[in-house]
Amino acid sequence: MLPANLSGGLRGRDKKGDKIEFKGIGTLMALIVQKFGGTSVGSTDKIKNVAERVLRQQRQGHQMVVVLSAMSGQTDKLLGMAADMQAMPDPREMDMLLSTGEQVTIALFAMAVKAAGSDAISLLGDQVHIHTDAMHTKARIKEIDTELVHKHLDAGKVVVIAGFQGVDDDGDITTLGRGGSDTTAVALAAALKADACEIFTDVEGVYTTDPNICAQARKINMITYDEMLELASLGAKVLEIRSVGLAKRYKVPLHVRSTFSENEGTWVVEEEKIMESMLVSGITYNKNEARITITKVPDQPGIASKIFQPISDAGILVDMIIQNTRQGHMTDMTFTVMRTDYARTMEMVQKIAEDIEAESVTGDESIVKVSIVGVGMRNHSGIASTMFRIMSGEGINIMMISTSEIKVSCVIEEKYTELAVRALHSAFELDKENPPRVEQQ
Ligand code: ASP
Ligand code: MG
Repeated sequence: MLPANLSGGLRGRDKKGDKIEFKGIGTLMALIVQKFGGTSVGSTDKIKNVAERVLRQQRQGHQMVVVLSAMSGQTDKLLGMAADMQAMPDPREMDMLLSTGEQVTIALFAMAVKAAGSDAISLLGDQVHIHTDAMHTKARIKEIDTELVHKHLDAGKVVVIAGFQGVDDDGDITTLGRGGSDTTAVALAAALKADACEIFTDVEGVYTTDPNICAQARKINMITYDEMLELASLGAKVLEIRSVGLAKRYKVPLHVRSTFSENEGTWVVEEEKIMESMLVSGITYNKNEARITITKVPDQPGIASKIFQPISDAGILVDMIIQNTRQGHMTDMTFTVMRTDYARTMEMVQKIAEDIEAESVTGDESIVKVSIVGVGMRNHSGIASTMFRIMSGEGINIMMISTSEIKVSCVIEEKYTELAVRALHSAFELDKENPPRVEQQ
C-alpha cells in the first residue's frame, strides 16, 4: 500500500481513464507499472509466483503493466556466446541477440497468467513503439506510444512488456545498457502517467548502508530522488541510475521492494512529499577508486589542462582533484580515477609528467571513497565536521575530501572501509528507529 503522505500526489482513474483524486489505493482503480528483475523471474516456478502476485493486485481493481528482465544470468550467457563469434561483435547483431532474454520471460509470464485463468498479452519493445536513438547497446528512449497498452489494459489484460529493449528509426532492435529494464519501467510509467512504478528485486529496499558490512543497516522507508541519485552514483547498486534521473524528471513515485516478501520497501519521491528530511540518509563506499599524485609540477597557466586534457580525451573519468601549493612556484596535483582505469592512466601520466618536467608520479590502488548523503545537510551545518571527527576518533587518515550540497565524500585507505562505515552509521544514529531529522524549509 502507498504511504499516506504520498496519497495527495496520487490519483486513481475512472473508467474513461481520466485521472481523479483519491485517498489511498484500494478504493479506486490505479495504473501500476511493476518491474521484476532477473532473480525474480529466474525459473519457471518463480515466474508463476510473480504472475500470481500481479494477479492478486489486479483483482483489487488496478490496471497492471509488468516489465520483465531476462532470467538471471541469461544476458551474461548471451554476451559469452557473442564473444565466441567475434572479438568485437557487430553492435546491431549484439542487440538482436541480447534482446532475446526478455522475450523468453514475457512469453512465459503471459502463459502463467492465462494458466491461472486470467488474460495477459506479452509485447516486445518494438510492438509498444519504444522509440530509441540508434546507439546500439546503450540506446536512449526518445518516446513511447501508449495507445496499444491502454487498449489492452482497458480490455482487462495484464500487459507484459520486455524490458531493456527498444527500436530505432530504421526499425532495428536496440538495447538500453546493462540493467536497462529499470529505465524501461520508469519510462513506461511516465508515458502512461502511472500512479506508481514498483521495482521488485531480491532485497527489501534501499538500505542505510551495505548490510553485508554493517549488520545494523536498516531499510529506508522514504528517500528523495536527489539522495537516491547520489547513493546510486556513489556505489549503491539497487537501482540503475538512469532510471532514477528519469523518475525525478517525470515525478514518477518509485517503490523499490522485494519479490519474496509482502513488506513495504523504499519509496523514492519528490522532496516536497517528505515533511522531515534525514540529516544523513545513507552511507556508501566505492572501492573502484585509485589515486595518482604528480609532485613538483611547475605552477603556471595551462598546467591543469596539459595534465587532464589527454586523460579526458582517452575517455577516462577523473573524479576528485586536489592541487596543493609548494614553495618556489611548484605545486602537487592529486586526483582519483576508477581503479579499472588505473594502469592506463598511470602510463599516460608518466609521459605527461616528463613533458611538463614534474618531479615524480606516485599512485595508490588500495583506497576507498566513503560518502554520507542526506538532503538535511542543505540547511544544517556541522555534518562534514562530524564525519571528520568520527574518522579521526577511529585513527583513520583522510586523504582527500569532496562535497556537494547533499553529500560529503572522504578517500581513505581501503583496509578501513568496514571500520569507517560502521562508525559513521552509528554516529549518525542510522541504526536507530528514529534517526535525527530536520524539518523541510
Ligand atoms: N537483462 C538485462 C541485463 O542483465 C537488463 C536488465 O536486467 O535490466 O542487464
Ligand atoms: Mg537489474
